[in-house]
Amino acid sequence: MIMIRMKNVVKSYSKGVKALRGVDLTIEDGEFVYLVGASGSGKSTLAKLLYREEAANKGQIEVCGQLLSKMKGKDIPKLRRQIGIVFQDFKLLLDRTVFENIAYALEVIGTEPEEIRPLVMQALRYVNLEDKANDKPTELSGGEQQRVSIARAIVNSPKLIIADEPTGNLDPKTALEIMRLFYRINQRGTTILMVTHNRSIVEKFRNRVVEIEQGKIIWDENRSDDVIQYDISLGEYVAV
Ligand code: ADP
Ligand code: MG
Repeated sequence: MIMIRMKNVVKSYSKGVKALRGVDLTIEDGEFVYLVGASGSGKSTLAKLLYREEAANKGQIEVCGQLLSKMKGKDIPKLRRQIGIVFQDFKLLLDRTVFENIAYALEVIGTEPEEIRPLVMQALRYVNLEDKANDKPTELSGGEQQRVSIARAIVNSPKLIIADEPTGNLDPKTALEIMRLFYRINQRGTTILMVTHNRSIVEKFRNRVVEIEQGKIIWDENRSDDVIQYDISLGEYVAV
């Protein structure tokens, strides 16, 4: 099944900035794809088009079987329900607890109140932060805050996760922890599109790499079938 299909996608911003100049990209269900490229090359724009934060000027975009060009404003929540989004700067609500931050993601999509607590606690358990449920984000480390935002992204069991430089604000050791979490989420079948600048991560966790330059895809290499080996320091299988 196809999770993402972009055909000849063009996106210009006002003032004539051409952020994407004809992007073709297909991502299958279950893939883990890195989107790399220099600053300003169009990575975040591509990501935003997929969750309909921005609309394309030209071309076709299909996400989770929905055609975005034909999508009406009222259908956007239905699309977002199937996508978990993770940002570099976490985007947590600082005046709410960890629990409330994750619960909020369920409230806005109309989850039954009695379902919310068990789902939130399950997501917190998944990222190993059950004991921080009543803390405020500001009481947590950067890595912990990112784990909260990952819990928020997965709480609704989305088919697709879009992460825009999720390790960009983290030290190397914490970045690895976060990558292990994404790796596990992908292993259970969730498709992941991750914008990253982190070369050592791209080398360590071998996945398909798509490179964008000045709004065009210039490289697309699938290395996820490389030989894998058990890495003791990581505690899991990684490609060598
Ligand atoms: P990246 O994430 O790869 O750094 P972006 O997608 O954020 O790149 O930006 C691509 C280009 O589009 C850049 O030239 C940037 O300045 C421009 N751009 C991004 N967002 C906007 C916006 N909201 N309005 C105008 N120009 C924008
Ligand atoms: Mg960006």
